[in-house]
Amino acid sequence: MEANYNAAEDDRKPLIELSHISKTYVNAAGSFTALKDINLNFYESEFVGVIGKSGSGKSTLVNMITGIDRPTGGKVLVGGLDIHAMKESDQARWRGLNLGVVFQFFQLLPMLTLLENVLLPMDFCNKYEPDSRVERGMELLALVGLEKEAHKLPGSVSGGQQQSAAIARAMANDPPIIVADEPTGNLDAKTADSVYEKFDSLTGEGRTIIMITHDPEIESRLSRTVLISDGEVIDPVLAHTLSWLPHPVLRELGPSLERRSVSGGEPLDMTGVLSNQLVFIEHGQVSLSARGSSNHKKVTLLSPGDYFSGSGILNDATLQDITVRPQNNALTIATLPWNRVTEALSGQSDLIEKMRAQLHGKMSGKEINDKQEEGMIQ
Ligand code: ADP
Ligand code: MG
Repeated sequence: MEANYNAAEDDRKPLIELSHISKTYVNAAGSFTALKDINLNFYESEFVGVIGKSGSGKSTLVNMITGIDRPTGGKVLVGGLDIHAMKESDQARWRGLNLGVVFQFFQLLPMLTLLENVLLPMDFCNKYEPDSRVERGMELLALVGLEKEAHKLPGSVSGGQQQSAAIARAMANDPPIIVADEPTGNLDAKTADSVYEKFDSLTGEGRTIIMITHDPEIESRLSRTVLISDGEVIDPVLAHTLSWLPHPVLRELGPSLERRSVSGGEPLDMTGVLSNQLVFIEHGQVSLSARGSSNHKKVTLLSPGDYFSGSGILNDATLQDITVRPQNNALTIATLPWNRVTEALSGQSDLIEKMRAQLHGKMSGKEINDKQEEGMIQ
């Protein structure tokens, strides 16, 4: 089964809570709104990838979480604390202890060696004994392959090595949260992989990592991804299930989704839903059984990332009398009216046909008899 990709399922308290965050940049050229009413939570032990095209607002979002830049509207709570309401001096200390930040353009101090750059946050926050700091600094540099470069200045090593040093620096105080803006963009595959492995083990120890990334290699390691498009968060169920649709279409469809949570194995009453709505599996699994040819039934098991509908949308007479049964654990589904989809895709019949074909594929299932069905479903 696929990992749950939507933290909204989680009934734990969020560690980081962005509510109604907006950001408008104003300069001589005019104003530009880079973030529009972002509502987003992050939880302990998550390894979250933030993805989106260049200019979509990823770095701006990260700057709101780290407190490096102020939102135009909205609040960011970290551990219940409103970070933008803190005094600047308190904020610097809070950040030193609680956040490791890897900036997109490294921002190492040029007059300090790589090791001294890593020691600086430790000296600032006094979390580790002074005589243990150099050893810890060297360990962190070794982790990113820089043990031989420790005493060099940033200007005399490569961009990739500076970036590696910035990652080591972000881990200096073993912060509960690491926020990294494309931290492996300049690294060779091997170094990038050891960074991912370290991040992976840190989340295993309860740390939270938020990472802007373009690297498709990383996806299997992430707890989930957050897709940003033109300053908005795309609804995760759409981002996960229909990522191949144009982002403006996904943005437009998001508000039309309706979620429903169910528990127990009783079949769902989907009367009136299947004829004109798409149904997405957000959490949990369902089995679909439909009346197939002769006395055989078709059964399909669907998981997060799958979606289905009824014969009204599919024009498929072999998909009659569909029974939808939740499997084992709690189920969350999201429904979307098909006419909203056709409106949003008006004139793009190729995309509508692709969606129909995909639905057919997802729902194709296996022909089984009643006995097999009992064994499979309960
Ligand atoms: P990303 O990191 O996804 O590439 P950014 O968050 O850096 O995107 O930028 C989002 C948008 O905001 C872009 O259109 C960018 O040009 C604009 N922007 C970013 N910083 C500023 C700024 N300081 N002043 C004006 N516009 C800005
Ligand atoms: Mg950026």
